[in-house]
Amino acid sequence: MSQILIIYTGGTIGMMTDPVTKVLKPINFEQIMDNVPELEKLNCKIKVHSFDEIIDSSNMNPQIWSEMAGLIEANYDDVDGFVILHGSDTMAFTASALSFMLENLAKPVIFTGSQLPISAIRTDAKENLMTAIEIANAKKNGHARVPEVCIYFDYKLFRGNRSFKYNSSKFEAFRSPNYPILAESGVHLRFSVNDIRHHGDEPLILHKNLVNDVGVLKLYPGISPKVVANILSADVRGIVMETFGAGNTTTDSWFIDLLKNAIDSGKVIVDISQCKVGTVELGRYETSKQLKDVGVANGYDMTYEAAVTKMMYLLGQTDDPAEVKHLLETDLRGELTVS
Ligand code: ASP
Repeated sequence: MSQILIIYTGGTIGMMTDPVTKVLKPINFEQIMDNVPELEKLNCKIKVHSFDEIIDSSNMNPQIWSEMAGLIEANYDDVDGFVILHGSDTMAFTASALSFMLENLAKPVIFTGSQLPISAIRTDAKENLMTAIEIANAKKNGHARVPEVCIYFDYKLFRGNRSFKYNSSKFEAFRSPNYPILAESGVHLRFSVNDIRHHGDEPLILHKNLVNDVGVLKLYPGISPKVVANILSADVRGIVMETFGAGNTTTDSWFIDLLKNAIDSGKVIVDISQCKVGTVELGRYETSKQLKDVGVANGYDMTYEAAVTKMMYLLGQTDDPAEVKHLLETDLRGELTVS
């Protein structure tokens, strides 16, 4: 019989309204199990690891990501797949981070959670949980159908590092605008076979070292030299710059000079767009040509979540800014499309 490891970190799925304070607070996994008797009827064994501290995902951090990745490595040979119960708020960051930390992944790591607690009458948690388990357990010719880090939510399976939380009030909480969904559940569970990544037989490599020396420069018309200079001179090694449209910025010389100085001092700056759909095209407009000339990295169609966590991952891999830039522009785990 196959075996799935459920890793419980917290999130709304496992919360209850405190009768006194009326705020939503995490509960333990036994209380979750009590709400889903269907778990007993599955045709696979369920093993559970509950984190000591059950959290709202706004308290998620890279130390917990390392713990989570270590747990996956420790159980990798014993189970067929993993389901991670996680708050939806930062789920796309965690899924992106784990996609970089787990190189050569050959087993499913499926994140899910819910918008309503599992004890609520209209909850979306049960469907999300049961189908996530089914996907983590799905095989064809003895191989996992989806050997990727994914998010399953509201009948859709997304590549983790392509998705973001776009709605805090609908059950349809996630989208993956620049990459097709990997599976859809309805009467049948249909996998988009051609969009799912498989790699050779190389063993899993775990990268636990993430460096969070990452700054963010989100542009707006009228941003001042003082503000840009402050962000670029912060004690960080990498900067995610959120630009306009196809990767464009002001052409003011003070702005380009500040970017150039930061890059010359050893910082890496990656350009991603504030648009959720489409890709950065450095050099298409006059307003992005100089970015390329001064050495800004092209983030193509990466999500903000993927860009931040990829930067953390790469800064933990090498001290060489040129290598970080090169790898930022390279498709490592299906997180970007080079155009
Ligand atoms: N605040 C919750 C969390 O991210 C929201 C959710 O789970 O949907 O932990």
